[in-house]
Amino acid sequence: MHSPLNVIVIGPPAAGKGTQAERIAVGRGVPKISTGDMLREAIQEGTELGLRAKPVIERGELVSDDVMVGIVQQRLNRADARWGFVLDGFPRTVAQAKALDRILAGRDPLIIIEIGVPDGELMRRMAARRICRSCSVNGELGDVRCRRCGGELVLRPDDESADVRARRLQVYARDTEPIVGYYRGRPTFRAVDGMQSPDRVAESIAAAIDSVLETTGSSS
Ligand code: ADP
Repeated sequence: MHSPLNVIVIGPPAAGKGTQAERIAVGRGVPKISTGDMLREAIQEGTELGLRAKPVIERGELVSDDVMVGIVQQRLNRADARWGFVLDGFPRTVAQAKALDRILAGRDPLIIIEIGVPDGELMRRMAARRICRSCSVNGELGDVRCRRCGGELVLRPDDESADVRARRLQVYARDTEPIVGYYRGRPTFRAVDGMQSPDRVAESIAAAIDSVLETTGSSS
């Protein structure tokens, strides 16, 4: 019996968290849990959560900690997350990071992967990326239609305006970056360079995860 593979991917907006979280999930056979995707789904379905989250997201602000912690707790308690998961987009505040430690008490180790990318490049990536209008999957450069469902590729509403893009980077620096300090001292923390090609970033992350598993004595 091996220990669960619990991974969180942290880093600024458009650093590549979603893309890399997907690769880890497929490569290691664990579910990818993306709070951004969950919120966009809620918005598309017009649920109460979606109605509340939409204006907040479109201003480039964060949905409240209470709401987010509730959603993530519920999701992590589902059976498919018992033997591991990759979290993308959570935690985004120190309060969320502390809540996650409480939720996961006894479900160690928690592997923390930070993807680093400079601001100028993040602004460029946010303006350039396209997602599928119907299934929200990220498009690949140069694609016109979604590779998964054939849907139309469009700008994400919170990527549309330069002001909102800049606001998200400010909110990241103020509210989210402090979680790096919260986690950095842990033996399960690894930082990877997000300025490489997606394949190279994926390789760096795979090596980082393996090195953590070696030091914690787990095998996957
Ligand atoms: P990105 O890909 O730019 O990092 P996400 O898709 O992860 O963005 O999230 C989109 C938006 O959803 C965020 O800008 C924020 O408003 C909201 N959101 C997602 N996760 C959280 C969270 N853990 N706490 C608060 N707000 C969140």
